[in-house]
Amino acid sequence: MNRREFLKTSLFTTIGAVVLSACNHIAIRTKDFIDKVSTKKYKNLDISVIGFGAMRLPQKDGEPDIEKTQEMVDYAMEHGINYYDTAWFYHGGKSELAVGEVMKKYPRNSYYLADKMPLRILKDKSEVIPTFEEQLKKCRTDYFDFYLAHNINKNEWKTLKECNVYEQLLEKKQEGKIKYLGFSIHDTPELLEEVVNTYKWDFVQLPINPIDWKTLDAKRQYEIATKAGLPVVVMNPLKGGQLSTLSEKAVDILKNENPDVSPSSWSLRYSASLPNVFVVLSGMTEMEHVTDNVKTFTDFKPLTEKEQSVLEKAIAVYNSSGAISCTYCQYCTGCPVGIDIPKNFLMYNQYKATDRKDRFTLAYESIKEENRADKCINCGICKTKCPQKLDIPNLLKDVADLYKELKQ
Ligand code: SF4
Ligand code: SF4
Repeated sequence: MNRREFLKTSLFTTIGAVVLSACNHIAIRTKDFIDKVSTKKYKNLDISVIGFGAMRLPQKDGEPDIEKTQEMVDYAMEHGINYYDTAWFYHGGKSELAVGEVMKKYPRNSYYLADKMPLRILKDKSEVIPTFEEQLKKCRTDYFDFYLAHNINKNEWKTLKECNVYEQLLEKKQEGKIKYLGFSIHDTPELLEEVVNTYKWDFVQLPINPIDWKTLDAKRQYEIATKAGLPVVVMNPLKGGQLSTLSEKAVDILKNENPDVSPSSWSLRYSASLPNVFVVLSGMTEMEHVTDNVKTFTDFKPLTEKEQSVLEKAIAVYNSSGAISCTYCQYCTGCPVGIDIPKNFLMYNQYKATDRKDRFTLAYESIKEENRADKCINCGICKTKCPQKLDIPNLLKDVADLYKELKQ
């Protein structure tokens, strides 16, 4: 190599090194500045361990607030959250529209979309496919990655069979409009066994959280799904928000162990630590929920044994506070006399968490008189609808009695 060739080679090598170094620097800076949440495998897909549930979106004038939802979704996408879950019933039919609107700017293969067949509204088999096609339109998509028969219970199971829902959805799967077919269920382990054994499913969505694990057979349901080879999507990991608003004493236990993380992060990690769970859905309402979830699931580590026992201790303390196990799911709506059951229970639970009598009476009085607990006529209609199997009329009596007692 002559001097001229040597200089030329050296120059290119130096420029190359500088460029490479700059690129590495950018790559390192990008990695450093944008945390990505961890993923788990579902078949050959890499799914973010935390999924974006679109059932509690921010609201404006009673409808999903698109601007705020867009900001939250943009942050979520930027940080690697790639699983988005909606349903016909969420936000009275507006959640699917909101999801379609905020996701339209992203390439369809950059995220996974889950939607659900609203079994409860089906009158006969002819309604299944038009409902499905309408959902595709609302979500502005040609296919769903994950599609579920929504909320199977005894009634919906009957509907599913009578309307040939599974067979019709299987055809959509064969056409490529559904990639993976599953179901969600809020019922007994016995019904879960029956559903699992009747059809061939790809996955199941179960309510799992540290309270329901023992008290509502979530453990047994998880074991049934695992034995059947069905990977699990977790819903309700915070028990309708209860696990993010624990009583002060319970929060102290968690904060003593780790002052830097939120109470919610403990319960979300609890469900995500189960090996057969591939995604945990979090119904996100504020940007703070998204940022906290990203923080929790960046470099996700399952709960250690010590953390498990700290969480159990905090839950035991919380349970002893006497809070009602309502998840505020709204399935009990339609009370003939108009009681706002979830709102009454929320006020009661906030009192149990804080012990602030003045706040409870004020909050209770903020509920319209006709929607208050003391107006319950004990007809029992709501009891049959509650997935938590709550004795609603009796619990409403507790709420009404507490108000009377505190007002004296
Ligand atoms: S039991 Fe009470 S709250 Fe439930 S539906 Fe009847 S009146 Fe409404
Ligand atoms: S009482 Fe039951 S059905 Fe009603 S909101 Fe609470 S958990 Fe849901």
